[in-house]
Amino acid sequence: MATRFALMIAPAAADDTRTDFAETFARVDPSAPALSVRELSTQRGDGIFESIGVVNGHAQEVDAHLERLAHSARLCDLPAPHLAQWRQAIALASADCEPGESVIKLILSRGIEHGPTPTAWVTAATAPDNSAARERGVRVVTLDRGIDSRAAERAPWLLLGAKTLSYAGNMAAIREAKRRGADDALFVSTDGVVLEAPTASVLLRFGDAFVTPAPGAGILHGTTQVSAFSWLESEGREAVYRTVRTDELARADAAWLLSSVRLAAPVIELDGAPLAHDAELTASLNAYLLSPRD
Ligand code: PLP
Repeated sequence: MATRFALMIAPAAADDTRTDFAETFARVDPSAPALSVRELSTQRGDGIFESIGVVNGHAQEVDAHLERLAHSARLCDLPAPHLAQWRQAIALASADCEPGESVIKLILSRGIEHGPTPTAWVTAATAPDNSAARERGVRVVTLDRGIDSRAAERAPWLLLGAKTLSYAGNMAAIREAKRRGADDALFVSTDGVVLEAPTASVLLRFGDAFVTPAPGAGILHGTTQVSAFSWLESEGREAVYRTVRTDELARADAAWLLSSVRLAAPVIELDGAPLAHDAELTASLNAYLLSPRD
């Protein structure tokens, strides 16, 4: 994934009344050093991020991503992002994207040790080719998340439900899934509740009903899943949030992993058992997800 664009941002306070933030942006060479060695995002993973899918220069679901950035900032006690400023940075990044699929990342870090402000930056890169996952599907194994489904409520300092930069555990889970002969993982709680994948939401079909685990059990509320629900509903399908127990997985009729850049990847095998793949439905859902969405 070649990063072609990087923009450092001097974060504005949420009540800043400026309408043009050009002077707060500094475009930098994406291959040159740009961060202080005292940066807390690199030292401790102390910060938050968003990955936005871009199709032919159109950044998808910008408002939903900005709302989630603000939500993550609240959970992490970071200053509220100035949404108009971030929107302008995203516009500059998307203007730099080539035709085809790209990914824009927004990063808001705690800043440097004892520093006055957070550090913020935006990058844009060509997206990897996800056609194999979308068309041929992914094999998934369930992995224990090591926490119960009430942990988010009981221990908010775990920052479950915030999109923090601390993804080392998520990446370790994907490596473990690969060691077990799969492509991706599906986290389950110690009390038997289905959560999410390390970098995606899960969508399941039971009969005619499309189901996703309710956000709140410490999972991220996926922007792609919200979009998929609106598409399913517009197609006259039933889409519901509910708690899904791990023992229900064996009777799921189909499943997908949903995320902003890979989009809908059908699950063709779950814990070694084959799952039916409705290739036509997946193709229509991905065509919708690739169409311009605001
Ligand atoms: N859950 C986790 C843990 C994620 O990291 C992601 C995306 O990166 C998602 C869910 C899906 O979110 P979105 O659809 O907004 O990309």
